[in-house]
Order: sequence, then C-alpha cells, then structure tokens
Amino acid sequence: MTDKIDSSLQKAQTECMRTGLRLTDKRSKVLKTLLQAGKPLSAYDIADQFKVSFSESLSAMSAYRMLDFLMQAGLVHKLETSNQYLACSHISCEHKHELPQFLICDQCHTVQEIGLGTHLLKELKDSIENTGFTLSSQQLELHGICAKCRADLSPQ
Ligand SMILES: [Zn+2]
Ligand SMILES: [Zn+2]
Ligand SMILES: [Zn+2]
Repeated sequence: MTDKIDSSLQKAQTECMRTGLRLTDKRSKVLKTLLQAGKPLSAYDIADQFKVSFSESLSAMSAYRMLDFLMQAGLVHKLETSNQYLACSHISCEHKHELPQFLICDQCHTVQEIGLGTHLLKELKDSIENTGFTLSSQQLELHGICAKCRADLSPQ
C-alpha cells in the first residue's frame, strides 16, 4: 500500500517535471493525503488530515489552491455533486487518460474511476443537447453499490 502511494507520488513528480509544473512539497503532501485516504475528501477534511499526518497546518484556503493545481495537473479529480476531491486512480498508469467518470458506492462511499469511450460520451452529449439542454460538465457521477458491498450483502 505504502509502496503504491510512494510510486504514485514519484510518478506524479516526474510527470509534473516533464510538463513544466512544480509539484512543491506541500502540493505533494496534499496529494499524498488523498492517496492515503483512498476515498473522496472535502477540502476541510484534507486540511484536518494534513495536520494529523504531517504535524503542519494547512488552511482550507490553501488546501483549495493546492487542489486547483493538482486538478490542473490531472492528478486529482473533483466530484461536482458532493464537492469532494479524490486522487486520480491512473497516476501510475502509462496509458492515456480518458475523460474520467465516477461510480460512487452509497454503502462504503468508495469511488471507482472509470473511463468511458469517447464515442459513448459523444452519443450521450448529442442526445442530451438534442433536447435543447446545454451541459456545463460532461462528468458523470453514478451512485450505486460497489462489488465488494454487494458481495457482503448477498446471503452466504
Ligand atoms: Zn483520473
Ligand atoms: Zn489506468
Ligand atoms: Zn461499497
């Protein structure tokens, strides 16, 4: 677990360097906080957790600034419906990142990031816009029960 977090942080650092972004110590610690949490957190949760993990204070204001940077760098995503943030689950992957979509478990609150094919998204967008509705975000946040919780729920 720790190894995976460390390698994700290292990969994030390399990726930022390659694209000319500066992943400062504080930004990296905010990302680490999210990676350790393994679930979405609000900016306030992040500030609190930051204090506990690093014995350093972080105002909610600067948490928002760090998160903005991390989102621009594609390392963190924001759930629009709950105003929470989560680490991208593809930081240590080599493949190209698709427009991320999220499956949210209502039972254990874990979030799974999935990439939907662009053709599927385009079809969805087209049929929505055919109704005269203009989308401000193409991010899907779908609620349900994750595979693990489902297995726990079903009778043995
Ligand atoms: Zn992602
Ligand atoms: Zn991946
Ligand atoms: Zn679950």
